[in-house]
Amino acid sequence: MGRHALLSASSSKRWLNCTPSARLEEQFPSDSGSMYAEEGTAAHALAEHKLKRNLKRRSKRPVSDYDCDEMEECTDEYVAYAMEQIEVAKQKCKDPVVLIEQHLDYSAYVPEGFGTGDLLIVADGTLAVIDLKYGKGVAVDAQWNPQMMLYGLGALELFEAIYDIDIVRMTIYQPRLESVSTWEISVEDLKRWTEKVLIPKAQLAINGEGDFQCGAWCRFCKAKNTCRARAEEYLKLAQMEFRPPALLTDEEISEVLKVADDLAKWSADVYAFATDEAITNGKQWSGFRLVEGRSNRKYTDEEEVAEAAKAAGYTDIYKKSLIGITEMEKLLGKKKFAEVLGKLVYKPQGKITLVTESDKREAIITATAEADFKEEATL
Ligand code: SF4
Repeated sequence: MGRHALLSASSSKRWLNCTPSARLEEQFPSDSGSMYAEEGTAAHALAEHKLKRNLKRRSKRPVSDYDCDEMEECTDEYVAYAMEQIEVAKQKCKDPVVLIEQHLDYSAYVPEGFGTGDLLIVADGTLAVIDLKYGKGVAVDAQWNPQMMLYGLGALELFEAIYDIDIVRMTIYQPRLESVSTWEISVEDLKRWTEKVLIPKAQLAINGEGDFQCGAWCRFCKAKNTCRARAEEYLKLAQMEFRPPALLTDEEISEVLKVADDLAKWSADVYAFATDEAITNGKQWSGFRLVEGRSNRKYTDEEEVAEAAKAAGYTDIYKKSLIGITEMEKLLGKKKFAEVLGKLVYKPQGKITLVTESDKREAIITATAEADFKEEATL
């Protein structure tokens, strides 16, 4: 992945919302060597290779420890999508420009800002920026997505002087989540956002200035466990005003529910951080100590156990079980899995959970609620 910009495109949502975060993060070690980062790099290299070969360009197939049927299929799907977009561009313009894994420099707006565009297509006044995301955490929306907008600006720097470009079309392709999100913005609006939002915020961020602001972007912030602003925000949320009557009202319970999930996640983060510090650095936290958790008994050597049990006359000692669905799908590949086992896999009803209204899942009506509704209707 190489060096990383302080104000990187991938962390832009964070430093645009919480401008002092970029400088604060500098004191924490880099985590670019994580397994997920390595897996993503391997998928990008394979996708780049396949796309180049499809475009009859020279390329040597990369090899990695992460090679598997799933990566093979996901990169095939991405390449099929990319080729489709290139075909569409060819219908509008005889010779569209197609760049793969292009270094993009947006330092004209963000100090030392640069990134890599997976695929750029320029045709007929439109600049398309396509980003492959191999992770399977959350589906990312392209609308007002600052990472994509920064890539768009970097790409405009390359092409603006040569081509007339009016529209920047950004697409985030996430094969493992079956999600494709596309959004268009006019170059004029993109430049307006750059002047009004991006440049001033980037200036604050590079100087470590501005206000701390908590939000969903804290999730991957290196400072999240010990950030004072985040702690204060959550502790403020946790302070309920106790007023008569003695029992909480329905409205007050709703207020607690709104913050409970975030509060639980934050306290779990702090707990995990403190535990890690105590184990790896011997840190003493006042009022706490390390103990051994519960554990289950284990065989020292399975073969020896089998021999000893058989010798004692017990033969019915083996259990045979199928490999899990995810492992099976990995083994067969998505398509084959659907073909051979599709009808033999079902999804049991999930545990009923109370979630916020912003959750995209469809609401369910429980039997009691339905009965109440019918009763009310007949009254
Ligand atoms: S944890 Fe959140 S509030 Fe604190 S510095 Fe990071 S992004 Fe800002």
